[in-house]
Amino acid sequence: MFYSKLFGKTKKEIKNYDSISHKLLTQAGFIDQIASGIFEYLPLGKIVLSKIETIIRKEMNTIDAQEVLMPSLHPKILWEKTNRWNSVDVLFKIKSQWANEYALAPTHEETITPLAKKFIKSYKDLPLALYHITAKFRDEKRAKSGILRGREFGMKDLYSFHKDKKDLENYYQKVIKAYLKIFKKCGLKEIKITEASGGSFTKKFSHEFNVITPAGEVNLIYCEKCEFAQNEEIANNNVCPKCKNNLKKNKAIEVGNIFDLGTRFCEAFDLKFIDKDGKEKYPVMGCYGIGTTRLMGTIVEINNDEKGIIWPENIAPYKIHLIGLDLKDKNIRQNSYNLYKKLTEKNIEVLFDNREDVSAGEKFNDADLIGIPIRLIISKKTGDKIEYKKRNNKEIKIISFDELINKI
Ligand SMILES: [Zn+2]
Repeated sequence: MFYSKLFGKTKKEIKNYDSISHKLLTQAGFIDQIASGIFEYLPLGKIVLSKIETIIRKEMNTIDAQEVLMPSLHPKILWEKTNRWNSVDVLFKIKSQWANEYALAPTHEETITPLAKKFIKSYKDLPLALYHITAKFRDEKRAKSGILRGREFGMKDLYSFHKDKKDLENYYQKVIKAYLKIFKKCGLKEIKITEASGGSFTKKFSHEFNVITPAGEVNLIYCEKCEFAQNEEIANNNVCPKCKNNLKKNKAIEVGNIFDLGTRFCEAFDLKFIDKDGKEKYPVMGCYGIGTTRLMGTIVEINNDEKGIIWPENIAPYKIHLIGLDLKDKNIRQNSYNLYKKLTEKNIEVLFDNREDVSAGEKFNDADLIGIPIRLIISKKTGDKIEYKKRNNKEIKIISFDELINKI
């Protein structure tokens, strides 16, 4: 990709931001805010989001979940059946000009359960796990922190149906492992899992996946040596019950949560199956969410410095940020475009800053702000070699093309 042609350029400064990720993602040209809590994803942002979704899809498919796509527009009657039309305080309600009322879905139990009902007849149809990745809506009084807490946001939600509690618990453990893999691949090394009650969504047990950061809004008591963590309100420990280390307290962002829904929704929609013993039973259900856009924001909260974003390799918009300097010189120009061509022919993702009317300093600042893992420079100084630098490392090396290919 030529930076000169990329839609969404960096900005010198921005006003009115309320988290680091909001500031950096806007300034670097990944997102753009339409109104409080409503964002657009520009090409760089869309690539990152798609990479996060690809990582999630792979792990979902590995635990035998199948992808579907359900609508955001839910007829009111579905939410009345589960008694949630009036009990979910952030439910977005809209009225059609033809008098029908709808919810803009913040979650999808109200559509997945009647859908599953059409296909689940016997124990042989279980277990069943379906997921999708779509926009979700929350009618927040005050949206804040950029894409960390939007009115419209991206989410992967998975729902599973089981013949009994034991089968659900087995699957639930598989999802925990899959989630930890997903977060690790996305560059979040430290995830703290808390066990909590799930508020208006469920009365059963649930787990939350938290990332420690000052931008968070949950107060977490946690152990630095192991994965132990608790929400502040319910915590009653000063030392870790697992490894006796002293506990710490900090803010955290919740990037994922999983619930045991029991039979609540299957009962509401009268979804039953015939078990081996010939009796009709309600399946036991689990629900598992990851906020995809919130995850993207959290990754930036964790991975940045005073100059900009430092993307983890797996989800960076491009692998290489190639900078051509002195491009008015014919030889250098040719070297730069040749290198770009050779790399892209090897299917290596390159963002090539080929602008001729921009200073070297400005290009370096932009590269640091955008945060692509590897920066390459072709200039008068480098001759037929290439300057190589990693975004998260100060060391600069002058290397040949072959050495570069070996490195990447
Ligand atoms: Zn511990």
